[in-house]
Amino acid sequence: MRSKYKITNRKNEISRYIEQIKLNKFGFEGQKKIRSGKIAIVGLGGLGCTAALYIVAAGIGEITLIDFDYVILSNLSRQILHHDIDINTPKVYSAAQDLYKINPYCIINIVNDKLEKNNILEIIKRQKVIIDCSDNIKTREQINSLCFNYKIPLIVGAASRMEGCLSTFNWQVNSPCYQCISSFFNSNNDNCLQQGIMSPIVSVIGAMQSLEAIKLLTNYGVPLTSTLLIYDGFYLEFNHIKINKNSCCKICN
Ligand SMILES: [Zn+2]
Repeated sequence: MRSKYKITNRKNEISRYIEQIKLNKFGFEGQKKIRSGKIAIVGLGGLGCTAALYIVAAGIGEITLIDFDYVILSNLSRQILHHDIDINTPKVYSAAQDLYKINPYCIINIVNDKLEKNNILEIIKRQKVIIDCSDNIKTREQINSLCFNYKIPLIVGAASRMEGCLSTFNWQVNSPCYQCISSFFNSNNDNCLQQGIMSPIVSVIGAMQSLEAIKLLTNYGVPLTSTLLIYDGFYLEFNHIKINKNSCCKICN
């Protein structure tokens, strides 16, 4: 299922982003690139809510929200676009309502469905960046494979307990893909429902995913490629691990 919100009055749009536009060497050109950007977010849980919030607030032209899940009470402590009134509502609708309030100039597409063979390709091909905030291996691997085939930059994040991790894949020669390092994400950072999670951890990672997406859209800053960022909230430490192509990877080799 898909729907769109649109607004036609753009008179005051630029003033919203003036502090961003002031950034050295970013300017109106950078803002225009965000404005013409199309980003899909897979998963509107803790990571996805924060990533979507900043992507939309920063002025993205079009965002596509993909999730098939419904809001439940235990989501509310960390999935910041969902509220008490949204319980039992599809997450994409709940998120879209808040995002529209945050920035009515943004086109919001909704996919209230699982990513399957018959819809995933059409959605992914249209995007300039994909942000993966899903919580299962099958979805991530599916997205990674398609992003690799169509050379669409992918930002993958995960969080559980007091930890999170993040990496950006933009398909430069000899750079790894998600599949090359998926065992790390899968063994250490999946399934916050079983292992518990401290609420702000997801927002730390989600906010960094949105920043990476904006950097990729605008060619501003240095993206986190061939690197796995590990965030340890317990000690408030950030570690960077260099990652290489896996010579046995079934996707990129
Ligand atoms: Zn690979």
